[in-house]
Amino acid sequence: MSESLLTRAERLQQMFPEEKPYRIKQVLTALYNPVVSSWNDVTTLPAAMRQVLEQSMPWFSCTPVKTVSSVRGDTHKVVLQGIDGLLFESVLMKNKRDQWTICVSSQIGCNMGCTFCATGAMGLKRSLNADEIADQYRFWQQFLHTSNIESKRISNVVFMGMGEPMVNVEQVKLAITTWLTYTDLGPTKITVSSVGVLPALQKILTDPTWPPVRIAISLHSPDAEQRKQIVPTTAPNFHEKLIQWTHDYARILGNRRHHITFEYTLINGVNDSVADAKVLGNFVRKTASTKVNVIPLNFVTGKQYTASTRERIAQFKQVLLNMGIDVTERKTMGDDIAAACGQLALSVKGLDGTTIL
Ligand code: SAH
Ligand code: SF4
Repeated sequence: MSESLLTRAERLQQMFPEEKPYRIKQVLTALYNPVVSSWNDVTTLPAAMRQVLEQSMPWFSCTPVKTVSSVRGDTHKVVLQGIDGLLFESVLMKNKRDQWTICVSSQIGCNMGCTFCATGAMGLKRSLNADEIADQYRFWQQFLHTSNIESKRISNVVFMGMGEPMVNVEQVKLAITTWLTYTDLGPTKITVSSVGVLPALQKILTDPTWPPVRIAISLHSPDAEQRKQIVPTTAPNFHEKLIQWTHDYARILGNRRHHITFEYTLINGVNDSVADAKVLGNFVRKTASTKVNVIPLNFVTGKQYTASTRERIAQFKQVLLNMGIDVTERKTMGDDIAAACGQLALSVKGLDGTTIL
């Protein structure tokens, strides 16, 4: 990793090798105070230290380029410029409790190539570092603090923005650990969504430094051949290995508050039939402590797929419910500003395919 991509904590150690750990902690704490907006404002630090920080450490690791808000005002999207000038996106959505959920990116683009996802179509530019991930929380915290939006509380974070968090596990882990240390987010308020990178998923089970956050797996199909068509990175024997993984997860990390969620994007005529629902139900029964969250397909420019009708979605859910499966449906939000699931590809208008650069 180049010098500029070192995390803040690493650079602070280099800049102040003699400083006591509590001072470094003070520096990092200040970053999560929404009232403070520059190193000069951090009056708990000695003036000399503030001066050094002001000169050599930007207050934010990334710079906002453009922010757009949905007509209903319940979804906001920002295009951020990373340390090296590359752009990525982050989304703020109102949740059921009238608080806010942040949908963060872990990479710029993605190389998993899911055929229905706009981020996948970009390919992978690079992974984000821990500061660029963590600062998406800080950006939205500042945004809410300085806006006239009434509810200012960020209650949840989901890794459902750009990229595959399980191929950037170390930086994702550092960012999560930072939030758990410096914000009021608890581990059950953070969800990491993965397309199912099994070696990484297996590794976190025995990693003592992996925080006990929630995990969601983007399943999309219970059938090997069908899944390979829409998720081309599907590994051989994926479903069998996933069943085993859910049992290992339940044994090692699972408890009452820790179930696995299978995300299932419903694509018209591809994976949304009654027969598909039955195969899914039988598959889910073989796994441990799992729930299903169906996601109505969001429009993606240049893709031939269409969304399932309301009737088909309702029928699909009913089959699962009849089989005793816990099933929920994700509410579509921000599709008017290309901020909904799978639409993040640096397009501000989305529906006409306009890109901002
Ligand atoms: N890479 C991770 C997290 C980012 S994608 C993953 O795949 O899980 C977040 C969610 O959006 C995933 O469940 C993904 O399958 C879903 N998604 C992608 N494209 C979509 C689309 N066009 N419509 C609806 N959901 C989509
Ligand atoms: Fe990557 Fe997730 Fe999109 Fe697949 S759905 S291409 S894993 S971001």
